[in-house]
Amino acid sequence: MLSAEADVLVIGGGMAAAWAAVGAARAGARVIMVDKGAVGTSGVTAAAGPNHWWVAPEQRAQAVTQRLGQALELGEASWMHRILSQTWATLPTLAGFYEFCINDAGNVVYSSVRGPEYMRALRQYVESLGVRILDHSPALELLLQRGAIAGARGERLQEREAWEIRAPAVILATGGCGFHGPLLGSRTNTGDGYLLAAETGVALSGMEFSSQFTIAPAFSTMTRAMSYVYATYYDASGRVIEPSGDSQKLRFLAEALLNGPVYCDLARMPQDIRDRLPYISPNVLPVFRRQGIDPFQDKFPIALVSEGTIRGVGGLTLETEDCETSTPGLFAAGDAASREMVTGAVSGGGAVNSAWALSSGIWSGHAAARLAKRLGRRQGAVERSGQAGLRPAGQPKPLDEAALKTTVRAQATDFSTTYFRDDASLTQALDVLDAQWADIRTGLAGGLRAREAAALTATARWCLTAARHRRESRGIHTREDFPTQAAYLARRQILRGVDHIESNFASVVEIAA
Ligand SMILES: Cc1cc2nc3c(=O)[nH]c(=O)nc-3n(C[C@H](O)[C@H](O)[C@H](O)COP(=O)(O)OP(=O)(O)OC[C@H]3O[C@@H](n4cnc5c(N)ncnc54)[C@H](O)[C@@H]3O)c2cc1C
Repeated sequence: MLSAEADVLVIGGGMAAAWAAVGAARAGARVIMVDKGAVGTSGVTAAAGPNHWWVAPEQRAQAVTQRLGQALELGEASWMHRILSQTWATLPTLAGFYEFCINDAGNVVYSSVRGPEYMRALRQYVESLGVRILDHSPALELLLQRGAIAGARGERLQEREAWEIRAPAVILATGGCGFHGPLLGSRTNTGDGYLLAAETGVALSGMEFSSQFTIAPAFSTMTRAMSYVYATYYDASGRVIEPSGDSQKLRFLAEALLNGPVYCDLARMPQDIRDRLPYISPNVLPVFRRQGIDPFQDKFPIALVSEGTIRGVGGLTLETEDCETSTPGLFAAGDAASREMVTGAVSGGGAVNSAWALSSGIWSGHAAARLAKRLGRRQGAVERSGQAGLRPAGQPKPLDEAALKTTVRAQATDFSTTYFRDDASLTQALDVLDAQWADIRTGLAGGLRAREAAALTATARWCLTAARHRRESRGIHTREDFPTQAAYLARRQILRGVDHIESNFASVVEIAA
């Protein structure tokens, strides 16, 4: 077994984890980072081309007002201002490791970055600060001492050994949950961080805002969506499908897909964007070329792919501006945390999520380093907090982990149920997931795959439970039986519990700006 000590342990290896490691190391902490994949290539940023919310100080008041309008009463101006100014101050510090683009006017473009190079640069930045990185080393459970964080345990997949790292401060940056679907880069994002934290008593918020979908060619998992701004859609007879004015931008496609295949071409893409596409999204066009399709002329079939909580909204509830949770010493950053404060009831994909991942990473890193300095080493006995999938409550029984994951996908990611849900369909899906959860709790024992199956099932239960309790339609949460927004539900929904889930609605209370 690998045993180690750190001031700050960062769990995850994506954008938020890397910025958290930078924040903690720059504040003087000894930092260890553990990733289920490999830092620099795993996580949803690595295969994408993230744009950060990037607004000059003099334009921020207007940008925040606009975003607050989109947030449908669940956003908070103060958090929005904070991520804007943190991103503005921090992103340029990557310049020694990343070559930012220069635009036609000769100005450096900081906001939009090339995902693979960005993540490679972040790895180099992190390594330059002396952070120890353990790749292919997923965390399986947290360690507690008298209710406070004391570290974590996991597996080193390539060395086939366990690891245990003691640390007085742990940052969960395990990303959102893509439900093991085909969303690009999301394979390792199975909701582990939610489960780890919830087992120590941390609540979740905004989990109902997880019915976010993106478009992919039906023959591919290429879910980079920028090109579809210029898409024209057709039904099987070649008739154009007009977008509805719905705030759920893709709902009209979901409706059309229920009636048969939907086709698309990108003929409306202007020539200058076509010329730049290979540089902006280098992996998009080869997918078409291999099929002999010219997407600017030919029609191709499309599918809708669930983005779960990744470009959805929900996650762990934070208690402080520094991103600490209710478990002392446990912080959450990036998609692992709820982003309702900065996105409200709509997706933060496209700009806000990246600014959030960066900012929450830096804040949690700084705060975790400060806390570790104050607390010193965690010595003495610790308690292992992991339950489902690790320590069954009953007699272990053979459960097929792949089948468990398939069930979760069927209940939580199908657009035909997720877009058009009502009390009956949500109850039906939850009955299936609750039964599966009972099996997992009593009988499933194993390592990473078992723990993933547990985390996926737990996350689906939180998402659907939250959807059932929010009896209205707001932003990306839609209900067939409650199609309008209810004024009395302009509140955050907080979920507590892993086995028995309790829902409470809480007023949005702004922190002081
Ligand atoms: C195709 C696509 C394009 C996007 N484009 C934009 C954009 O332009 N602008 C924008 O604002 N947002 C965008 N987003 C969203 C944005 O990329 C995410 O919000 C951001 O990457 C979140 O970073 P993260 O570090 O929290 O999560 P991730 O980058 O997903 O990283 C999560 C990490 O946690 C690791 N992990 C998971 N479980 C464990 C475990 N048990 N132990 C150890 N490690 C674990 C994973 O391996 C992974 O490395 C996009 C998302 C997608 C899918």
